[in-house]
Amino acid sequence: MKRMTQLSIAEASAASEDDRSDASETGRGGPRTPSAPRINIDRIDADAVKVLRRLHRYGHRAYLVGGGVRDLLLNRQPKDFDIATSARPQELRRLFRNCRIIGRRFRLAHILFASGKIIEVATFRRDPTQTSMADDEQDSGMWGIHRGSRRVSDLRMGNAETDLLIRNDNAFGEPHEDAIRRDFTINGLFYDIERGEVIDYVGGLRDLMNRTVRTIGDPDVRFREDPVRILRAIKFSARLDLGIEPEVYDAMVDQRAELGRAARPRLLEEILRLMRGGAAHRSIYLCWDLGVLAELLPEVASFLDDAADSGALWRRLAVIDRWQQAGRLPADSVLLAALLYGPIQEAMTGSRNPSHAFEDFIGEAAMRLAIPRRIKDRVRLMMLAQKRLHATTSGKRGSGKLGSLPRQEYFEDATLLYALDCEAYGRTAPEWALPRGVTGSETVRRRRRRRRRREP
Ligand code: ATP
Ligand code: MG
Repeated sequence: MKRMTQLSIAEASAASEDDRSDASETGRGGPRTPSAPRINIDRIDADAVKVLRRLHRYGHRAYLVGGGVRDLLLNRQPKDFDIATSARPQELRRLFRNCRIIGRRFRLAHILFASGKIIEVATFRRDPTQTSMADDEQDSGMWGIHRGSRRVSDLRMGNAETDLLIRNDNAFGEPHEDAIRRDFTINGLFYDIERGEVIDYVGGLRDLMNRTVRTIGDPDVRFREDPVRILRAIKFSARLDLGIEPEVYDAMVDQRAELGRAARPRLLEEILRLMRGGAAHRSIYLCWDLGVLAELLPEVASFLDDAADSGALWRRLAVIDRWQQAGRLPADSVLLAALLYGPIQEAMTGSRNPSHAFEDFIGEAAMRLAIPRRIKDRVRLMMLAQKRLHATTSGKRGSGKLGSLPRQEYFEDATLLYALDCEAYGRTAPEWALPRGVTGSETVRRRRRRRRRREP
């Protein structure tokens, strides 16, 4: 089955190579790939199909784009289904009653469906570096810094000549322009549901077939424009088990220091995505290997370089991946604590005031990655609780020694971190430390309710 898919991607790729030469600049008759695997419409979210059909009915071009197409072609379930269209935001608002235009200056449509589902619809855009002065003037006041994942505000200004960092990527464009401003070829594919065709302006099908992460265009330039793409390359390589094209790999190493120029909240979010994606072990290993970890979390990188028991981190990450695959992904604070566990423990051990030791340790990392105080405090409380949890299991009286700990709001996360550690070291976690839904944690919750009732 898998082989057949790969074959059809190969045929499609060959077709797309031929077509690319006569790709229409208007985007209407782009490099369609008639022999590409048709994506079974049942695999596409029904609401996304409704949006696409409505756009077509009203004469707009509209395609499924990005990660959705990539994942369907790789036979994986996409996380979300994004749409790119020729319709402008105002037209989208008129076409869809359940439409919300988001972004203060940049406008992107969210079409809302029952149960809170959102289909994101963006007007075709082009690379802002291709934007002429006239375009800039025309767009000013309407277009600004882009939304969340590609936000590049609060950045240091650099030398204008060498500074490629994108600060505005909101000029409208044609489909082929929209494809080439995307990050990797595997993310630059469009799918036309009416014709059942993949549209490949960037050689994405060939790279999917060869299971390769390759930037669209010069990797050094693309990473300097947006250094977070380095982390995205790691994420796709690790999560989808793809190789990284050698030139791209070298550029990731060469440009890794640029990460210091990216918006800090984006860096933290990408690190968390690496931890959540089911391939935390592979992702963090790649970060370490590329020298990216030394830029983002030098505390962890040097711990891995020096510490005798650095293997514990890899074991913890492997447990996180197993839990993720079993649908039991812990909260962000637990993930972060697991990543920083060794160095934090090292900093706190032997200290008279472990709380202060923690703050001393975490200060710089918290600044570097804009770790919110809420998460930082929770990591501290969880780490402080570990000692008591260890003592409890080694003592004879079982969970009775937990004292007031089960009444704390962070207790469940602290026990999860403890259970993670037990599993990493091949110890059996006590019942009360097992994740929610497993009998042991119920015992603790019942005891907590009874105690509360007795309180005055
Ligand atoms: P995931 O499965 O993690 O959601 P994705 O590829 O869908 O992966 P998103 O962050 O949802 O990633 O972005 C959707 C699409 O937008 C991408 O597939 C890519 O085409 C484009 N994109 C996202 N981030 C960037 C970026 N930093 N630079 C250029 N294009 C980007
Ligand atoms: Mg996505």
